[in-house]
Amino acid sequence: MSESKVELDDYQASEYAVEFEDKSPQEVLEWALDKFHPKISIACSLQAPDVTIMDMARKINPDARVFVVDTGRLHEEDHDLMSELEEKYGINFEVYSPEPEHVHDMVKKYGINSIYDSVALRFLCCQIRKVVPLMKSLKDLDAWITGLRRGQWASRYNLKKIEIDHEHQGIVKINPLADWTWDQVWDYIKENEVPYNKLYDKGYKSIGCMPCTRPVEEDENPRAGRWWWEEKAPKECGMHCSVEFGGFEKYERAILGQEEEKSEKEKSEED
Ligand code: SF4
Repeated sequence: MSESKVELDDYQASEYAVEFEDKSPQEVLEWALDKFHPKISIACSLQAPDVTIMDMARKINPDARVFVVDTGRLHEEDHDLMSELEEKYGINFEVYSPEPEHVHDMVKKYGINSIYDSVALRFLCCQIRKVVPLMKSLKDLDAWITGLRRGQWASRYNLKKIEIDHEHQGIVKINPLADWTWDQVWDYIKENEVPYNKLYDKGYKSIGCMPCTRPVEEDENPRAGRWWWEEKAPKECGMHCSVEFGGFEKYERAILGQEEEKSEKEKSEED
């Protein structure tokens, strides 16, 4: 097992994506773990597809790494699940949290629940609580594994099983369940007795932070329960694709301590 950097370019990633398109998630994972471990980690958002992938991966390699972004606003059921998974698989989760000073500055300036005040403030919260910790978690990796599926939402319909993540230093992003349906995920969980998030038993179908997720009706799209109060805003947080901040970029930079990187154009606009 080598720890030297393993890189792919766009062309190589596309070739692999074609090669693995008809392969099972386990075959994708076997290839990925063989090629990139230990510089590959599973992003676990404690949802059904993630625990499915964790079960598959740990059966292939019991040392497969798993990380969680703990935003500080997770549900109690999320932590209960982490505890169950630790016990079943012997996992030591790598937990990444927001920078305390970023949260402090945001809450001081806009309030604890500013997420309901505007889409831009919600994106700011996602940036501080999710995107920045994610960037830290990916910093030393060559590849990461997600539970994303094409059927989740319109923005994911074009997902490839293997792609280059240009949002994160061009590392490789592996999506083994890209072509799986929701039913396939749950069939796997039941057949393999995989621990799952008990929020699903309470009517949740897509799980995010506590203030931003609610149960949905049987016939509703699962992601309808995410940021349900927003109209015409993408149901994304910026972890898997960049989102526009609606002019809040300079406030974001100020809170994130990046004021010195302000562009010349912005400086002249402020003069
Ligand atoms: S999902 Fe909600 S609470 Fe969580 S980071 Fe995004 S806006 Fe903040």
